[in-house]
Parts: sequence; C-alpha cells; structure tokens
Amino acid sequence: EADMSRQIIVGNWKMNGITRDSRELVQALLDKVDANGPEVVVCPPFTQLALLNQALAPSPIGLGAQDCHKNVSGAHTGDIAPPMLTELGVSHVILGHSERRQEHGELDETVREKAVAASKAGLTPIVCIGETEDQRESGDHFDTLGWQIKGSLPDGFNGIVAYEPIWAIGTGRAATTDEIAETMTFLRQELVRQFGEAGKNIKILYGGSVNDKNAASILSLADVAGALVGGASLKADAFLSIIAAA
Ligand code: PGA
Repeated sequence: EADMSRQIIVGNWKMNGITRDSRELVQALLDKVDANGPEVVVCPPFTQLALLNQALAPSPIGLGAQDCHKNVSGAHTGDIAPPMLTELGVSHVILGHSERRQEHGELDETVREKAVAASKAGLTPIVCIGETEDQRESGDHFDTLGWQIKGSLPDGFNGIVAYEPIWAIGTGRAATTDEIAETMTFLRQELVRQFGEAGKNIKILYGGSVNDKNAASILSLADVAGALVGGASLKADAFLSIIAAA
C-alpha cells in the first residue's frame, strides 16, 4: 500500500539530455537530494538511462522512463519493452503523456495495455490524463477526465495518476489552486467509484508549468501527492526548490 503522506516529485526531461547535460544536472541533484525529503524520480530519455542508473544507484533518487511498449519483446521497431527498463534500474514509467497521445496517436486503450505490461515487469506506471483548453472552456473537462480514468487505468491498477491539463503544459500558465483542488476532488471520487477502497490509495500528481514559485501552493493542496515537472526539472536550482517545497 502506498505511503500517502510522502509526496513524490517526478522530473520529466522529455527529449532533452545528452550526456554532458545529464551528468551536470544529476551531479547538482546528487549533492542536494537526501532520503528525508519527498521521493524524487528523474525520467531522462532512454539513451541516458544506463548512465543515470550508475550515477544514481548510491543515491535516494529514483529512475523513470517516459514510455514503454505493451509487449515484452518482438517485432516492434524503435520500441522499448518493460523488462529492458527494469534491467537498467528503472522503477517508474510515465505512460500516456499528452505529447505521446498527440504525436503518437496513443489511445486510452493503448495506455491501459502499457500500464498492465509495466506493472507485470515490476514498474510503477505514472498514467497521465488531462483535458484540452477547449474542453475546459466548454465545461467538458470532468467528462473527459472521467473517460480517461475509465479507459486508461487497468483493473487492479497499482500505479500513480498524473493530472496534467494540456493547456498548462509548457505554457507557464499552471492551473490555479482552485482548479487543481476541485479537479483532485473529482478525480478521487472517480478513482473510488472505479476501484473502491483501493482508489483512496492511488496517488494523484499535478503537472503543468510547475515551477519554483508556484510549487509550494500547489503541493500544499489536500490530495496533491506530488508533481510531474517538465521544463523546471531541467534546471537544477528550480527542481531543487520544488523538491524543497514538498
Ligand atoms: P511542464 O511539463 O512542467 O514543462 O509544463 C509538464 C509535463 O509535460 O509533464
């Protein structure tokens, strides 16, 4: 059962990080992150996983990937299977990020199958959901999120949910604390509807323009179990401030 009181800060590096940059960033984190704070996980591109596994092994910082395939091997050119990740010391995998849904046509069903495969391999899936700006403006956001939860999370889901409104990603315009609080209440209700008691223990992260300035107010909201951080996770100072705010 998840320790609901310990927050988790996940850095999503996206398609950034060649060796020189990754080394530098990780070195700055290694010096400052200790086991007493929130759980910290960084998710570099696949190509940096082996290097970071070595660098992070003696530290409390965990390693995540940004996607995985639903099969364990086979004819899937360019894809990466869950056991290939666990072999590299990966513990978490981001699934169904809106950029993958948009750029790679991932559907709720795709994400759900990947979540099953990830869990089977011992990875903790971090399943992303979030509404578009149009959906929020027309008041359809809760419908959208409800369908995404139903479609993207498999039976017995034992991972983490990341609520990332698409209009807040990379825009510098995070959702307001009111919007986040209201959405968290809705998501919790849906999780309990779908999973019963177990739905109370699924961590929900917020993501979308989290930075060193807004982190404290977002992370202090009830039911926000942590943050999924994109842009600000590439700057050691900003990422460390977010960790300190948890
Ligand atoms: P951002 O990205 O923090 O740069 O908005 C968050 C994400 O896409 O996970």
